[in-house]
Amino acid sequence: MDIEGRIRKLRRRMEDERATAVLVSAPANLRYLTGFDGVIDDGINGACLVTADVTRFYTDMRYADAAAAAAEGGPWEVGVQRENLYVEVCDELHAMDVDSLAVESSVPYGRFKFISEQFRGAVRVLDHLVEDFRQIKEDEEVDRIAAAAAIADEAFRHMLGYIAPGKTESEIALELEFTMRRNGSEGMPFSPIVASGPNGAHPHAIPGPREVQPGDMIVLDFGARVGGYCSDMTRTVCVGKPTDEQRRIYDAVLAANEAGIAAVRAGMPCVDVDKAGRDVLAQRGFGDYFTHGIGHGVGLDIHELPTIGPRSTQSLRDGAVVTIEPGVYVEGVAGVRIEDLMVVDDGGHRRLTNAPKELIEI
Ligand code: ZN
Ligand code: ZN
Repeated sequence: MDIEGRIRKLRRRMEDERATAVLVSAPANLRYLTGFDGVIDDGINGACLVTADVTRFYTDMRYADAAAAAAEGGPWEVGVQRENLYVEVCDELHAMDVDSLAVESSVPYGRFKFISEQFRGAVRVLDHLVEDFRQIKEDEEVDRIAAAAAIADEAFRHMLGYIAPGKTESEIALELEFTMRRNGSEGMPFSPIVASGPNGAHPHAIPGPREVQPGDMIVLDFGARVGGYCSDMTRTVCVGKPTDEQRRIYDAVLAANEAGIAAVRAGMPCVDVDKAGRDVLAQRGFGDYFTHGIGHGVGLDIHELPTIGPRSTQSLRDGAVVTIEPGVYVEGVAGVRIEDLMVVDDGGHRRLTNAPKELIEI
């Protein structure tokens, strides 16, 4: 991992913004900037302070030993806080004569207010301070995402032999999670979605006690995590033979998925990638049944930049890892979504999800 390079990018952004000091505290940004493995979890009390000549990672006693070990030989000093991290950081900034501080836009409002009260100077927010350059993945980051995607592919293969009429959505979700964790996933980047029959019409359905029935379409949306990095995929299967209508919906979503993927290359405006898939659904009469953006970036967070939807303003950048996931949702009837993960590279893209996409009958 190119930690020095990441710090250089942050300092370049600071220069552009005329920011003398930044304090970063979102766990994914901490992990990205430090490159520490095995230290930063979602509940960490930690912050990275960066000025022109300081790169210091603060945390409390609970994380101190692991942080000190991870920092060895790298550019980060570790500061261990005894009472309140932000009080101590603000005191140090005062001692350094720093009178303006920038924080990332994802900082929770309560923390922003507290820092503003403690800091003797102006505190401001910079949009996507670290998230912007997190989009462009290094090879080692792509390798971790690819390893997570392979665990998910393998779990899907296993699930084809597991899903059967009478099994509940909750049981299927548990088996999916168990399989991925047994095969090396570090926890779950998000709770797997298993949405059967009419529940499939809700894009973010929570698995429940409904038993799978013959004739159901089942939407399975899940991912694994390796070395902190997430994967994300969706497949929709049919229990028994699909009806003509189910087949028509599935074929439309698959065609939209392939059209969206075909548009993925560096420099492509995200709005055009979305349109490539969306137009296919509209041509086939399902335009009103696709109710979300076609994709998103994936990395240390399951949803990160870029956002790929009808209101996106960004373009795809070389090294970005993105999903393409069109869906059709017919209220009270069924849903179909097909989601693949890929890395933008070599003037096109390389697929990281490799599970089959033809409509599988269970
Ligand atoms: Zn997903
Ligand atoms: Zn997704």
